[in-house]
Amino acid sequence: MSANAELLARRIAAIPRGVSVATGVFAARAQNAEIWDIEGKRYVDFAGGIAVLNTGHRHPRVMAAVEKQLQLYTHTAFQVMAYEPYIELCERLNALAPFAGPAKSILFTTGAEAAENAVKIARAATGRSAVIAFTGGFHGRTMMTMALTGKVLPYKRAFGPMPSEVFHVPFPIPHYGVTVEDSLKAVQFLFKADVDPARVAAIIIEPVQGEGGFHSVPTELFVALRRICDENGILLIADEIQSGFARTGKMFAIEHSGVEPDLVTIAKSLAGGFPLSGVIGRAPIMDAAEPGGLGGTYAGSPVSCAAALAVLDVIHDEGLLKRADAIGVRLRERLQAASRRNDLAPIANVRGLGAMVAFDLVKSRGTSEPDGDMTRKVTARALENGLVLLPCGIFGETIRILVPLTASDTLIEEGLDKLEAALGIT
Ligand code: PMP
Repeated sequence: MSANAELLARRIAAIPRGVSVATGVFAARAQNAEIWDIEGKRYVDFAGGIAVLNTGHRHPRVMAAVEKQLQLYTHTAFQVMAYEPYIELCERLNALAPFAGPAKSILFTTGAEAAENAVKIARAATGRSAVIAFTGGFHGRTMMTMALTGKVLPYKRAFGPMPSEVFHVPFPIPHYGVTVEDSLKAVQFLFKADVDPARVAAIIIEPVQGEGGFHSVPTELFVALRRICDENGILLIADEIQSGFARTGKMFAIEHSGVEPDLVTIAKSLAGGFPLSGVIGRAPIMDAAEPGGLGGTYAGSPVSCAAALAVLDVIHDEGLLKRADAIGVRLRERLQAASRRNDLAPIANVRGLGAMVAFDLVKSRGTSEPDGDMTRKVTARALENGLVLLPCGIFGETIRILVPLTASDTLIEEGLDKLEAALGIT
């Protein structure tokens, strides 16, 4: 039995199937945009640990900051004895807030925890309970975020009942026939049929849906949502957990729209591979919760804060906003060219903001009929070719590219060559 097969057998025996794994190989080490498995095989990493590695695996400056912190203290619990890296990081996040006026930030550990706490903060600030979310959205797997997530399988089935006071409206995807007008009409119907707008605390939306398939919120929808929020005293939460920290060519994807949210949830690439999340928000809203109402034992780990401070320096010093744009242009060019080739599996809807790029596998060229089976075949073939690819999308029809923004042009071209070879399986 190969080393990978042996570990796979141990994994299956020891760990429940509920935590599924995209690949049957196991990591031995990783650097920047490359991973080596336990049999020594090398992979180009186009998954970036699910959007965590905009600054790559083990960026030298992130590792140096973490190593320095390890020599000082690794945990005190911020609520017992606070520490400067947490405070300094929040100061820097406040300065980056995608809205005018004073900001405050609070740190947690996981993305779901950030989204949960954004809802708690919004409820405390408004004295209201309901939350509106979007179909196809993903906000996590905890009870409240599972309810907010707009996808039944695999996230909700068997886990009910869902927490109450969560309402979904359709997310606009033009090639599936859902327009911005449809989404806005659904909000108006919701206010008539299900929930008084005066009971709604927040609308939560991903500026670019991640798990849902890399669909961007059209600016006109953001403008309309902002207006609905302002007219009804509702808070707008931008979930930037997947789209944040330079991935789209801006620090936060909502900046492309010019619309200002009230709260922003952050995680993933914030700390370059260390667990850290947070909420950035307008200061008076952030101060609404009572002392002791927010926090967590590990929330804002000093080790992760040290990593995040280095990540922010790397994004700035290495010009990763511009780099994301350049990578995005190159990815879209190659994918557009591939979409015109008859010798490759039919792909459609090449899209994305900056380097948050995706495309769909479809049943036949020129249509948008999703082909989830083909997507699975292509990602499996890519893995054999030494490329880690992640699927997503409501029908599992989408392949998303989240290559580290620190990857060289040569490595990205190599990954695209492997992707093209994997698409040649028809
Ligand atoms: N929100 C978004 C937009 C996400 O992409 C994710 C993770 N994929 C989450 C929330 C949940 O984050 P976590 O898995 O760290 O709880």
